[in-house]
Formats: sequence, structure tokens, C-alpha cells
Amino acid sequence: MALMTAQEYIESLRKLKTRVYMFGEEIKNWVDHPMIRPSINCVAMTYALAQDPQYAGLMTVKSSLTGHTVNRFTHLHQSTEDLINKVKMQRLLGQKTASCFQRCVGMDAFNAVFSSTYEIDEKYGTHYHENFKNFITMVQDNDLTVDGAMTDPKGDRSKAPSQQADPDMYVHVVERRPDGIVVCGAKCHQTGSINSHWHIFMPTISMGEADKDWAVSFACPTDAEGMYMIYGRQSCDTRKMEEGASIDVGNAKFGGQEALVVLDHVFIPNEYIFLNGEYEFAGMIVERFAGYHRQSYGGCKVGVGDVVIGAAALAAEYNGVEKASAVKDKLIEMTHLNETLYCCGIACSSQGFKTKAGNYQIDLLLANVCKQNVTRFPYEIVRLAEDVAGGLMVTMPSQKDFESDTVVGRNGETIGDICNKFFAAREGVSTEDRQRIMRFLENMCLGAAAVGYRTESMHGAGSPQAQRIMIARQGNIQGKKQLAKDIAGIQ
Ligand code: SF4
Ligand code: FE
Repeated sequence: MALMTAQEYIESLRKLKTRVYMFGEEIKNWVDHPMIRPSINCVAMTYALAQDPQYAGLMTVKSSLTGHTVNRFTHLHQSTEDLINKVKMQRLLGQKTASCFQRCVGMDAFNAVFSSTYEIDEKYGTHYHENFKNFITMVQDNDLTVDGAMTDPKGDRSKAPSQQADPDMYVHVVERRPDGIVVCGAKCHQTGSINSHWHIFMPTISMGEADKDWAVSFACPTDAEGMYMIYGRQSCDTRKMEEGASIDVGNAKFGGQEALVVLDHVFIPNEYIFLNGEYEFAGMIVERFAGYHRQSYGGCKVGVGDVVIGAAALAAEYNGVEKASAVKDKLIEMTHLNETLYCCGIACSSQGFKTKAGNYQIDLLLANVCKQNVTRFPYEIVRLAEDVAGGLMVTMPSQKDFESDTVVGRNGETIGDICNKFFAAREGVSTEDRQRIMRFLENMCLGAAAVGYRTESMHGAGSPQAQRIMIARQGNIQGKKQLAKDIAGIQ
């Protein structure tokens, strides 16, 4: 099958019987729901750009399994060049959507599970790698979006999966049958889960022998029997539900999406199982997936950063201060921070290496340094964006006020007239354009889009401490001590 168009992707979601709940009720037509649709448009962009001759070279690639042209989001990276192109593609998508476009979690799961299953089979003579190859071939051939589901609720963090009072705090096997397994549990804040055709479930931490039933990885369709999602709300999300909402939403076209994904006795046939009790490999899958996703942030957040910097520069221009040296310097600082993140994304890709299975893995230390910087720099970038934009981004009256014909003035001026008079920007700039850029910055810095640009930068792909643990492990302090000893003449 050929690559899907954006429209075909959206229509393909309608065919699924995905169970979605929001505000305490089931949402039947979730594809057209005003709070969900922007996040679908965002994934659709990964399909649209693949069809665009200008971007097809970056967005598509020859499959290592079939030789067919596939969307890079379904690709198994075959070289460091592929890893670099992945980051470039993510920056492009960030620039085009200013949001989390969600499809990367699946791509990162594919590459982590592909290489890990090879090594599990090598040790145990299992058939997980073959299972996975069949699965990923189906995904590539049908150009599917797949969610990579890792983060379990975790309950009491001081306890292992098998020690939890409620065993569902980590996804686990509750029944083993000749033809498959039955699983229960949940995954939290799952990016793009509702918008995905399939899910790949993976463990979220290293496990011991007692946790065998929790050491499980598998694929299942998003509308599998027993599976459902409860939508995660975002700051100011109901602005999207307001009649005629556009300006006040900020980014009305695109958005991210997270949900709680629940598995209530879901049956998984044998051919979709990639790990089942080989507990010592749980950590490998986690480390590889997290490494890839920490690399990803050196692309996607940089693309979104490009738009934030552009919006701040426009706000300055509309206010008539773009020539002020202090403003110029702030834009330079924002650019410096943003490009530093890109450097990290490119660096960990260029230093990648071939796994035993044949696909390419990023440099783990550099990918963790990349993500650690992402937990900081976007915060400084939005701080500077707010500084440049001014307070209006959070104090301006609503779109309805600007459009209102209710008379308030002595000479018959309407609320709209008054708003347009007092919020006028420099000559030649419409008040509406100024409104738009201010609301866009509000949305990016502290509205619904800040989920994707700020808090996700902090906690997505692992919270800062998770990277510090990896940096400690990979940092080779002993080797560095020896360097100092050698030069200082210490025996
Ligand atoms: Fe992709 Fe970035 Fe969203 Fe992760 S946070 S899914 S890397 S856009
Ligand atoms: Fe993320």
C-alpha cells in the first residue's frame, strides 16, 4: 500500500472503534471534537509533508525490510545519516505545527524494540524479533501511526512492580494461554494515543526476577477489546470549545494530546508479543527507547522554539521596538539557546552506532545531555519571549470584545471600537495581527501549547533526574580521574 495522504489518515481514524472519554463522558465523534481535532491535524502533518515534493526527500526513505518507500516515522534507522535526518525531520514538523506531533514515540519504540528483541532471541531462542519484523512491516506497508506506550502509573515509587499494593500500577500479564496473554494495567500521559492506529507497550523500569509478569512488551490495535482512553486536559483547553474560537486559542490549527490508556483484560495473540517474562531485558528496552526519545527532543522542541522566537520578534516589531539593542540581544540569546539544543540532537545522532540487529542507536551520553538541556532552555526561551512581548499577552480582552458592537461610548463607540483604539499597534500593523501574535505567545508560554513546549520539555522522555542518572553512568569519571593523574604525575 502507498503512503497515506493527510485526509486518508484522518478518515482512517474514523474506522476505528477507539473508546475515548472526556469530562466524564464517552466521546463518540472524537475525530471532530474541537479539543481533540487540532492534535489530529498535527499528526496529519506528518502525512502531508511526506506528500509534498519539497519535503519528500527528508520525510520518506527506502525501507530496510521491503525496499519500499515509507514515511520516515516508520523507519528503522540504517546509518548515522538516518539518525540526523530524523532530527531534521522533527525540527521541520515543529516549525510547521508549533506543537507535539506525536508520531515520534512510535518511531522511537520501533527502533528500541527492533534491536532489543534481536538480543532477547539471541539469549533465549524466542521468536520476538520475527514477531516484531512482521509487525513493523505491516506498519510500514500501511503507513500507520503507532503510539509507544511506556510510562506506567507506578503507585508507590519506593516499591518494585511486584511489591505494589495494587498490581495494576504496572502493566502486567494476568493470564497465559497457548495462543497468547491477557494483560491489565495502564499507561499515563500517553502522547498521541487516541490518534494512533496501534500501540506498542513497553516496560517503564528495569525489573528483577519477582517482576517477571510485569516484564512484558507487545503491540495491540488502539481499539482492542478492553482498551480505552481518558483524555488529559490542558491549560485553557475549553477556549477551543468557544463558539467561533480562533484568536483566543492562540494556535487554533494544531496541538498535542495526552491520555490515560487503560488495559482491562486485553488479549494479546502470540505473534504480537515482544517480551514476556525475560525481565533482565526490561531495562534495555527502557534505556534504548529513552535514548531515542531524548534525541528526538533535540529536533521537535527546536522547531517549536523557532516559531516562539519568530513570534517574539513579531511582537517586538508590532510594538515598534525591534531596533532596540536590548530586544535584539534577547532574540540572539533565544536563538543561541535553541541552536544549542539542535547541536545536541545532531551530535548524539552523528555519534550513533550499529546495534547487533543492524539498526542504528544514538550516543546515549550525548542524547541524555541533549534532553537535560531541553529541561532548561525552553523555559528560558519562553521567559525571554514573555519579556519581549509585554504583559498584553495575558491581559488583553477577548476576541468577542474586539468584535462586539455593544455601544459604550458617548459618541456611540462600541466595545470593539474601544478595544481596537487602545490596543492599536504601530502604524501599518492591524490590531488583529497584534492580538493574534500575543495570544499565540500566551498559548505557547502558558496555555494549552505550553504542555508541549514547557512541561513536556521537563518531563517528557523522562524527568531531569532520569537523565542525570544516565549521565552519571555514562560520564566515565574514573577515566577522567586517570587523565588528571597522568598529567599531574600521580602514580
Ligand atoms: Fe515527537 Fe517531540 Fe512530541 Fe515526543 S514530544 S512525540 S519527540 S513531537
Ligand atoms: Fe514527548
